Amino acid sequence: MDTTLQMNSLGRLVALLVAVAAWTGCRGVPAERADLLIVGATIVTMDAEHQVFPDGALAIRGDRIAALGPRAELERRYTAARRLDASGRLLLPGLINAHTHAPMTLLRGLADDRALQDWLENYIFPAEARHVNEEFVLWGTRLAALEMLRGGTTTFVDMYYFEEQVAQAAEQAGLRAVLGQTIIGFPAPDHKSVAEALAYTEAFLQRWQGHPRIRAAVAPHALYTNSAETLRASAELARRYRAPILIHLAETRHEQQAVRREHGLSPVGYLDRLGLLGADLLAAHCVWVDAADIALLRLRDAGCVHNPSSNMKLASGTAPVVEMLAAGLRLGLGTDGPAGSNNDLNLFEEMDLAAKLQKVTRLDPQALTARQALELATLGGARALHWEAEIGSLEAGKQADLILLRTDRPHAVPAFDVYSQIVYALKASDVEAVWVGGRQVVHQGRVLTLDEPQVLARARQLAARVAASRSAH
Ligand SMILES: [Zn+2]
Repeated sequence: MDTTLQMNSLGRLVALLVAVAAWTGCRGVPAERADLLIVGATIVTMDAEHQVFPDGALAIRGDRIAALGPRAELERRYTAARRLDASGRLLLPGLINAHTHAPMTLLRGLADDRALQDWLENYIFPAEARHVNEEFVLWGTRLAALEMLRGGTTTFVDMYYFEEQVAQAAEQAGLRAVLGQTIIGFPAPDHKSVAEALAYTEAFLQRWQGHPRIRAAVAPHALYTNSAETLRASAELARRYRAPILIHLAETRHEQQAVRREHGLSPVGYLDRLGLLGADLLAAHCVWVDAADIALLRLRDAGCVHNPSSNMKLASGTAPVVEMLAAGLRLGLGTDGPAGSNNDLNLFEEMDLAAKLQKVTRLDPQALTARQALELATLGGARALHWEAEIGSLEAGKQADLILLRTDRPHAVPAFDVYSQIVYALKASDVEAVWVGGRQVVHQGRVLTLDEPQVLARARQLAARVAASRSAH
């Protein structure tokens, strides 16, 4: 009797479960799972078709974008552990600062309004010799990381000394980075000789091999600060570890004329003769390049970085960005260092200036559009790094490097064109949230990975030492 009763109850339970399953099946309960579903934002993908989804949704699983598209479609497909309503906001790929010197935040404004050679030789190199050590670099990079993350930068490309400390700070901050240990042909803060610099760099390359976010690189500073032998040795070391090579190239007329006088070639041509020009090389500035140089850079598939603030502030000239893009060159955007060539790490400002500098130089308002300027700071930077399969645009399968921008402040209202709004009106301070590799690192405009008051206090202390020694001299 009891057994029959139990069987009947069990039978009813099974029938009920089958009925529930059938009902939910009809209702189309989402089959796919996401860790985070961001809904309601206008998604600016920067993919090849320049797709924009006005009421979009984006699903993150692990460190990657699982899917994105119209909100209704994604809500049918996905159940998510967390859901974020981002209505009224813009969701963009994280910005890529393709050339900077992050620790130089601590020398911000030390010597402004001077020519590059005067600024370097009489102010920056001496200050660095006295003050730059591991502690300086660690805290300077933390300060830079706060500024970059709050301004929507998710990837930065760096060239400095004690790059090991830059890597540790970037790793802690949760940033993605390509970090070039500087090799320079005279005694520097972290090496007395080129041999020492190469040994330090090799150990640095070994330590960071295989890291998912940090790529160690070799950064021979420039043609005018290194011998041919040092440049070749730097490239040989980089290629042994399949590491990128970072260099300043054709920045000033002075450099272009000196290289031509000494070697009978343009800086680009000379670099090629030395065997350095290749797909693994990223050249900052490229201001003084002609049609033949652009063709050669394209032929070798090298990357270039445009630095409009720096080129304007140091009066270096205007890079032929229009010609570079027309030639299909891999071109990104960078702030350059915050010490005297910018003086901040703000890619919103840089995009705005990139567009306007081409327009005014060429007397053509169509020379570089807002959308092209945004592309320089996103997919362009990724292409310059040969990293476009992973970052630079919002596409399913790519790394979840994204930024969320608020659009409710007076300077953002109204908006007729999303690219114009982003490049000409929005500010770095409109960045509300940031994710790098699926991990949220900025929330409500605050960096989650660093202690901001502590970093600012240490930065002021270290800068006070620089100021004290300056007044003592
Ligand atoms: Zn630089």
